[in-house]
Amino acid sequence: MGQLQLVGDDEARCVHCGKRAAGPCASCHQPVCGDCCTLTDGGTRTWAICLACDARGGRSLAPAWRGLLVWLGVILVALAVVVGALTWLSGR
Ligand SMILES: [Zn+2]
Ligand SMILES: [Zn+2]
Repeated sequence: MGQLQLVGDDEARCVHCGKRAAGPCASCHQPVCGDCCTLTDGGTRTWAICLACDARGGRSLAPAWRGLLVWLGVILVALAVVVGALTWLSGR
């Protein structure tokens, strides 16, 4: 009650300092203000992540992308094996 009612639903507050949030953290999705976030490169676009995520190593989003690429590679190899097996079976 009281203070909480002053904050509108559309006005997110920074979880660290209570100022008006500039946007959600790309890692933990908590609202953070411009002072409490840091910009980081996550491949094709720039992400804003909070200082807490930055401190625990959330700065680099590359491992997630690498995991996705590994999965794509596994799927492609599996498809190649299936196609190769079918080709071998039909060629007999
Ligand atoms: Zn803040
Ligand atoms: Zn965060």
